[in-house]
Amino acid sequence: MEQERAEITQRFLGADIGGTNIRVGVVDEGGRILGEARRPALAETGLRAAVDRAIDAMFEAVEGAGLSVRDIAAVGAGIPGGHRSREGICVYSPNFADSRGVQVLQPIREALDLPAFMLNDVAVQTLGEYRFGAGRGYTQMVMITLGTGIGGGAIVDGELRVGPTEGFAEVGHMTIDPDGPLCQCGNRGCWEAFAGREAIVRRAVLKIQRGRQTAIAEMVDYRLGSITPALIARSADAGDEVAVEVLEETGNYLGIGIANLIQLYNPEVFVIGGGIAQAGRWLFEPIIRTVRARAHMVPASTCRIVPSELGDDAGIIGASVLARVELGRSREEPAPPTSGDVPSELPPEESAA
Ligand SMILES: [Zn+2]
Repeated sequence: MEQERAEITQRFLGADIGGTNIRVGVVDEGGRILGEARRPALAETGLRAAVDRAIDAMFEAVEGAGLSVRDIAAVGAGIPGGHRSREGICVYSPNFADSRGVQVLQPIREALDLPAFMLNDVAVQTLGEYRFGAGRGYTQMVMITLGTGIGGGAIVDGELRVGPTEGFAEVGHMTIDPDGPLCQCGNRGCWEAFAGREAIVRRAVLKIQRGRQTAIAEMVDYRLGSITPALIARSADAGDEVAVEVLEETGNYLGIGIANLIQLYNPEVFVIGGGIAQAGRWLFEPIIRTVRARAHMVPASTCRIVPSELGDDAGIIGASVLARVELGRSREEPAPPTSGDVPSELPPEESAA
């Protein structure tokens, strides 16, 4: 990777198009953010409209960096869900209304006249952490992000693992307990049905309904629907016993899935990102304890389990890494295979330098 550091330092646009917020950054080859812009995702207006807002933010970010679009080498974008990324098409994105079959890259390429690439958002964050964050210096890495669901990405022998349906992202739907709770995907006992946002909140609500005394209930004025994982984490920090228990139980289930992934992938480092990961030791201690207790054949001691280093920046930095890697690849093999009905906007011999 380093040997292609030829003439000038290239700059990329990285877009993190989430279901709540859109963040765009101009990022240089060293992972430094030179300018950025944000927009609300307004997911209910659909993915195509969100892409337009992202394009708008791209122009603002470039201007904020004191650059012009001609100074940018390529665009990368991370979007939740599953995609036919090489064709620029979203297959599904549960976060957005009306996402099926939406062409994401073509409008970006047309608006900026730049090569553009996309991938699942967690895959993109994994690239960011691998290149510039907690995975730096390793060649085998697994990352998960904890949010509404559990998303994942894997680096195998220094390459992002991208299967034919970009499926590693759906690691949250591996079965942890065949008789477990019903998951929104239709399966029973999925990992995220135990450790996703809803499961964490439900755990706290059940304890309160069973009469346990906790500051959590007072903090939401006994409107239990308003409980959030962040609030539970804060209560744990303040010494609330029920909050600590909720995170302990959640960490236990997280540890089971992480132990499974360590047995499968034998990573050197396991990175945990996403909002709930900020619950810190309340979550990491039970996770590490459970992994040690369950991972034997590939001992947990061979794998560091660490929080994300890039935090909220993993999305835009990772998207810039995607842009750089894919731009290099597209120059090696000029025409990526497309399904035929989608015109490839990639110029055959792009020389941005
Ligand atoms: Zn599921």
